[in-house]
Amino acid sequence: MSARILDGVAVANQIRAEVAPEVEAFRARVGRPPGLGIVLVGDDPASEIYVRGKLKSAADAGLRADLERLPATATLSELLDVVERLNRSDAHDGILVQSPLPRAMGPDAERRIFDAVRPDKDVDGFHPLNVGRLVQNRAVLIACTPSGVIELLERSGIAIAGSRAVIIGRSDIVGKPMAVLLLHRHATVTICHSRTTGLAAVAAEADILVSAIGRPGFVTREFVKPGATVIDVGITSLSDRPAVERLFAAGSKRREAFERRGSIVVGDVHPAVEQVAGALSPVPGGVGPLTIAMLLKNTLTAAIQRMGAAG
Ligand code: NAP
Repeated sequence: MSARILDGVAVANQIRAEVAPEVEAFRARVGRPPGLGIVLVGDDPASEIYVRGKLKSAADAGLRADLERLPATATLSELLDVVERLNRSDAHDGILVQSPLPRAMGPDAERRIFDAVRPDKDVDGFHPLNVGRLVQNRAVLIACTPSGVIELLERSGIAIAGSRAVIIGRSDIVGKPMAVLLLHRHATVTICHSRTTGLAAVAAEADILVSAIGRPGFVTREFVKPGATVIDVGITSLSDRPAVERLFAAGSKRREAFERRGSIVVGDVHPAVEQVAGALSPVPGGVGPLTIAMLLKNTLTAAIQRMGAAG
């Protein structure tokens, strides 16, 4: 058996196609496009790539997207000033501060920044008010990656209600909101983490298994019940040859890509899982494109809500 591959690019394109006319209608009604302010601190290469992708996708969707850059030496108070300016801006409906922030900003910098973004402009869905609303199943702005996973499942016809769902990873931005979203759709949910004992056996009970830990190839065949749906949220750029050789056979497409580029992006799920799972989201081309599509959708939603609130 070979798993059905869940095409994140196709589902993301569907969502973009739905967002585009609504963006146009907003522009016609309000006289300006929905606006997104992205803040990037420092020069982390992965963050540069993510931010470039977000800016391009936003522009393609007809949104206004502005990048505010700060040097790696910026202080938390300088960053808070930029957030405050975007909070007050009439042209910006959504604000996204790219993580990770430079370590020098301190251990609680991210939390302080998430707290500082106006909840109605919080298109990442990280503000505690939006997290609380999510828990009570009355959220407007929901974290993009887990809500993208729900779109991928639902639009691929995977039944959630009544299923056993297991999530590996308990971060505030992926694992926890993922669990809540599946719970609201009537799955029976288990969250696993680094202290879970017998992890493979727990995972193997899942009809829907979501892995969000960032460990290449961690989820092996023994974690997967035959026929289960496996969603791979992990993203790791791998340039270590022995690690790539352990995961991908000589002559495979992924090995060829590695030989050409010197690194490849991989998920948490071992390639052999494709022989056991019923459906599988690939990396790349699975959850990643959906995260960006949901950011566009959240920006549109924030814009519509703000304008509604403004009368
Ligand atoms: P994170 O904050 O570092 O959290 C990782 C989680 O994985 C933690 O809960 C940790 O457990 C758990 N974990 C780590 N090693 C484990 C192990 N050996 N066994 C069981 N659990 C383990 O990471 P994150 O921000 O949630 O991101 C997770 C992954 O998703 C990363 O690869 C990230 O790049 C990727 N990601 C992808 C997208 C996308 O658009 N596709 C978006 C966001 C993140 P403890 O809590 O016990 O430490």
